[in-house]
Amino acid sequence: MSANTNTTLDTDLPKYALNEEQEKKEILRKYRALLRLLHPKLKRGDKEIVRTAFEMAAEAHKTMRRKSGEPYIFHPLAVATICVEEIGLGVRSTICSLMHDTVEDTDITLEDVEREFGTEIARIVDGLTKISSVIDTNISQQAENFKKILLTLTDDPRVILIKLADRLHNMRTLDYMKREKQLKIASETVWVYAPLAHRMGLYNIKTELEDLAMKYMEPEAYKEIARKLSETKRERTRYINEFIKPLKEKLNKTGIAFEIFGRPKSIHSIWNKIKKKNVSFEEVYDLFAIRIIIDSQPEKEKEECWKVYSFITDEYNPSPERLRDWLSNPKSNGYEALHTTVMGPQGKWVEVQIRSKRMNEIAEKGLAAHYKYKEGSNNEDRFDKWFSQIRDAISNQDTDGIDFLQDFKVSFLAEEIYVYTPKGEVKMLPTGSTALDFAFSIHTAVGSKCIGAKVNHKLVPISHKLRSGDQIEIITSNKQKPNEDWLGFVVTAKARSKIKDSLKEEKRKIAEDGKYILQKKLEGMGAGFNQHNIDELVSYYKVLSQLDLFYDIAVKTNDLKDLKSFHVLGDKLEMPRIVKIPEIKTETDNKHSKKDSELIIFGESSDKIKYTLAKCCNPIPGDSVFGFVSTGKGLSIHRTNCPNAAQMMANYGHRIVKTKWAKNKEISFLTGLKIIGLDDVGVVNKISNVISGEMKINISALTIESMEGLFEGTIKIFVHDKEELDNLVNQLKKLNGIQSVKRFDTDEIA
Ligand code: MN
Repeated sequence: MSANTNTTLDTDLPKYALNEEQEKKEILRKYRALLRLLHPKLKRGDKEIVRTAFEMAAEAHKTMRRKSGEPYIFHPLAVATICVEEIGLGVRSTICSLMHDTVEDTDITLEDVEREFGTEIARIVDGLTKISSVIDTNISQQAENFKKILLTLTDDPRVILIKLADRLHNMRTLDYMKREKQLKIASETVWVYAPLAHRMGLYNIKTELEDLAMKYMEPEAYKEIARKLSETKRERTRYINEFIKPLKEKLNKTGIAFEIFGRPKSIHSIWNKIKKKNVSFEEVYDLFAIRIIIDSQPEKEKEECWKVYSFITDEYNPSPERLRDWLSNPKSNGYEALHTTVMGPQGKWVEVQIRSKRMNEIAEKGLAAHYKYKEGSNNEDRFDKWFSQIRDAISNQDTDGIDFLQDFKVSFLAEEIYVYTPKGEVKMLPTGSTALDFAFSIHTAVGSKCIGAKVNHKLVPISHKLRSGDQIEIITSNKQKPNEDWLGFVVTAKARSKIKDSLKEEKRKIAEDGKYILQKKLEGMGAGFNQHNIDELVSYYKVLSQLDLFYDIAVKTNDLKDLKSFHVLGDKLEMPRIVKIPEIKTETDNKHSKKDSELIIFGESSDKIKYTLAKCCNPIPGDSVFGFVSTGKGLSIHRTNCPNAAQMMANYGHRIVKTKWAKNKEISFLTGLKIIGLDDVGVVNKISNVISGEMKINISALTIESMEGLFEGTIKIFVHDKEELDNLVNQLKKLNGIQSVKRFDTDEIA
């Protein structure tokens, strides 16, 4: 962002100018407005407690100002107002909102809060304080932050709701921050808070957060779409009126009380569509949706929604694929409605959303407001289930923040699909789930033994992606056990962590042999089998842990040949002078040499730096790549289309280094291919003939699994660059009966 734009922003901002007297009046006015909103929820004695909280907070923040120059207390008052007005929270949340910044920023202690308002409120304020102290660190570590936030969520969902209100008000007043701060807060908002708002069912807040974030992150695109929306407004209103008119007439005759109106889609969602579908603004057909809100009794609302649907589709022809029935199966965040897309006048597709007033309330304020703190909710179950799933996911994971966040996003924030067990029981899974995810969702034992599934009575492999409405029967075998590839077949946090656990267990068992072999060898040389020597070897062989060292020895990818070059001093080893360059673990890889470190040129200069090739995407020369600086591990090279790239860039933009390949034909790189084709005698022969015979490429591993007349081959090979790989793929595709040949990454989702 240029300095220029900053100046414009500054001069555009309204100057805060109230004298002391006016300021006091304004604070009181805001407080009274809050009380009015809260009024229906006040029970005896509540008013006094709220007043105490307000006075305590106002006094504590007395000398503080916001960046805009306003008195600080404006902020807690605004957060409390959002909680009551836009989220539907009550008295206790109001008190917490008023107090939310006091423990962190003023002399008030948690003990003070507890003494004055009791333990429940003190716990929530404590949760809010913890979150903000994490988020205010200088290093952008949203993933870690998010994990912390979720940990507090398990205590009390109100912590998250108030935090969302806090974030919303900060986003609304972001103009006053410095540009870097704006970008940091905005990206955190899209990455963490908007999905969370969505998951809590707070659609309005989610939309506003996204729009506000976009305004700072993509100011040009934002302004452009906003301008076009306002330019086309009149035309759109005319169209909406034309569309609505016949519907109104029909609905009036039914006696159902209703409201019907057109609602523009958010700037952020329009922008997403433009990017995703690669179309222009003019080509985005759903710039708005029609919403019909009916006033009906709870026991009649479902029936009447369908009635309205029937009237609409009498008038306009619906698209059968776009019917969404969230009446029968509400989303897990509580959203209920009936959506359809119909062909309107002038051949335009128009989305129509039908809801009752009650459903609309949930759609706007979220389910949380109805949960526990409000009488008569029939959705507690669903919400409880979600929370307990989160608790599970958090309690049995030891991954770092990024991994955790990715798992979490997919498992809990993504849209879900509904599938059925053979007995007709509904299961909710995130979009993209496979038969294997389903198996693990039933039971770990079912998942671990899964060899395939019947989806709608047809046999499919474990990696088969499920769709809403599928009925799944899992096929198991006692001989089955999880392998590394499975990690590429699942999206749910539960399945991933169970597979990882089992792989680790397996590795540990195998590693025992390696440990024994090493012990013998060391003792044979007169060196001790002690921690010092093990550590020396771990660093010499450049493996991550002693488990890896033992494992490599056990499976013979490490033959300990180099052990000879060590000297023994006392019973300790002394490292050989020449430090070995990290080696790809294989015996066939004899071409790999010390030139490794000269392969890649970084940034604009041609400095040569040590690097490693990321295991998650196994880049090879010719791939478009970037470097990622990780603490402790130095620089790792990833493909730009690495499954982890987006997260890394979003979270650790400052650690990304521009990287390109230098020319080098001497060294080969490990990569993998997945081949699917018709199972046939000699298929392995044919494939390996092409690879090692015709193309003279070294194979590191080749496994073929066959199922119902199909086979799936996984081949790990050494190639020099992308060109050679592409060539090989083309040759393999020419073979008879080969259906597909795809490059794979160990971590890639199949
Ligand atoms: Mn705050």
